Amino acid sequence: MAFESLTQKLNDIFKKLRGKGKLSEADVKQAMKEVRLALLEADVNFKVVKELVARITERAIGQEVMESLTPAQQVIKIVNEELVALMGPAQSKIDFSKDITVIMMVGLQGSGKTTTAGKLGKFFAKDGKKPLLVAADVYRPAAIKQLQVIGDKVGLPVFSMGQQNPVDISKAAIEYARKNNHNVVIIDTAGRLHIDDELMDELINIKNAVNPSEILLVVDSMTGQDAVNVAEEFNKKLSLTGLILTKLDGDTRGGAALSAKAVTGCPIKFVGMGEKLDDLESFYPERMASRILGMGDVLSLIEKATADFDLKKAQELEEKLKTQNFDLNDFMEQLSQVKKMGSLSQILDMIPGFSQQKLKGVEVDDKELVRIEAIISSMTPSERSDPSIINGSRRRRIAAGSGTAIQDVNRLLKQYEQTKKMIKQFTRIEKSGKKSRQKL
Ligand code: GDP
Repeated sequence: MAFESLTQKLNDIFKKLRGKGKLSEADVKQAMKEVRLALLEADVNFKVVKELVARITERAIGQEVMESLTPAQQVIKIVNEELVALMGPAQSKIDFSKDITVIMMVGLQGSGKTTTAGKLGKFFAKDGKKPLLVAADVYRPAAIKQLQVIGDKVGLPVFSMGQQNPVDISKAAIEYARKNNHNVVIIDTAGRLHIDDELMDELINIKNAVNPSEILLVVDSMTGQDAVNVAEEFNKKLSLTGLILTKLDGDTRGGAALSAKAVTGCPIKFVGMGEKLDDLESFYPERMASRILGMGDVLSLIEKATADFDLKKAQELEEKLKTQNFDLNDFMEQLSQVKKMGSLSQILDMIPGFSQQKLKGVEVDDKELVRIEAIISSMTPSERSDPSIINGSRRRRIAAGSGTAIQDVNRLLKQYEQTKKMIKQFTRIEKSGKKSRQKL
């Protein structure tokens, strides 16, 4: 799978950071050296790596991280945000503003251009559009046949005029589309093994003749930096509107996906994820970044937290924590909030840096929750609001009143103390999750 080795290396680096707790500037710098190497080994463009690592380092040795209770986590968050910014920052859509959207597909031979033309047609057809595929690669007779086979498979008509001039074919195709109510025209142009002037001139002529809404370059991500160089060349001549990276399902090291936007300024609009004609996905920078970081879990945790957590309550709690007012009534309230998100140990597992060990004694199952409720109910209001007054004799009374053992009461009070610490972390994650989601 793509990015496997990069993901593994980044995870190893982050694991080391998490093991350290508080981070020094030297720790961050060492980690960034390793991140730099991992990116270079993944075939990311040298200049892109340099600038990216400089930005991450600058932020990571800032207050945001150093003063945080979970510095390693903050570093990962920054890396994630910078990767998203590098590849995006936002998803780039197709320009459908005209009556007929003309899309020119360009690319080197073997990049996956013809297959991708069919995939795109299918993709748009699913979206309710009426695409027409156009065979304008007239040099390889097999190319016309190939597009016809693909057209059959996806159930779309293919416009072809044999080996005639591709400019004439393209113009006639648009005329045909207008008459037959097609609102998307996808032109499969000729590819070569290498970029040459003749090919570029032909593409420029087609562009001038049909004034396309989109010129999409199909590049093979397996070719790494070559893909990025090809993109740069095509962009200079044709002013591309976007890139489609194919074969991202293969064993690519990831360099092309990470550098293409930064080097060319052209957004990646789609990615090819397999040979089948359904294997095309819209490109979302944030999803790609989380995939590269192997961080799906953290992102889904943030989603969960933002969906299920009551922000106002979380803020009230944070206020209470700041003013040291967090009492056992809040503890009960918090337990029920956390329970809403799933089992506590499941949640803790999703958070990097939260080793279960550190939080021994905080695990709560349903039976325990009932016991806790009983214990807290046996306390007086003043004990609930100020648990520090609960001395030995009060503990004995509470245990007897709630039908529990004195050890249960002790454990609860310990859990309360630890939860106090944990909630501080949760409210931080929850808030930073909201912030980074707003940025996306
Ligand atoms: P063209 O010469 O640029 O038109 O390239 P083709 O469309 O003929 O594709 C070349 C080869 O790449 C074919 O065998 C395709 O099946 C394959 N291909 C295209 N896109 C993908 C993809 O996203 N993943 C994989 N695994 N193979 C792909």
